[in-house]
Amino acid sequence: MILKTNLHIPDIRDLLFEQLKNYKTDDLHLSIKAKHFNKHERKVYGSNTGDVSTLRKNKPYNMHILVNSGKEYPETEKWGIQLYKNKYVFDADRIYTRDEALAWILGHEFWHYFCFTKQERGNFETKANACGFRWLRNFRMKHEPI
Ligand SMILES: [Zn+2]
Repeated sequence: MILKTNLHIPDIRDLLFEQLKNYKTDDLHLSIKAKHFNKHERKVYGSNTGDVSTLRKNKPYNMHILVNSGKEYPETEKWGIQLYKNKYVFDADRIYTRDEALAWILGHEFWHYFCFTKQERGNFETKANACGFRWLRNFRMKHEPI
């Protein structure tokens, strides 16, 4: 994996090392950047990942993660993690820092990557959301917010 970032994120580098140790990521180009979203956009981050067709051509899978540089925390994340009898089961958590936001969105996007590369099964938003919460909690066990 090639990681490009203009942010100082040693704890996130540790998280990636830990979470990716059992996966193949040779074909992945990951970029993590801060972006100034305009005032109307309350969002914590944006992301834009490569698609299946680029993988089929054996090109790198590009994952672009943008984190909102003007965001104030905490912020609640609430997302469906499962469908049960046609209804979503939600999980929610508070995000206290930019790095926690990154842990969540990276967990989400890496789930899609694992599925695209057939290292996991079930390429659904719900499963990606659940993976985001797992990465966030794993990150938090090691890096408590101050
Ligand atoms: Zn997704």
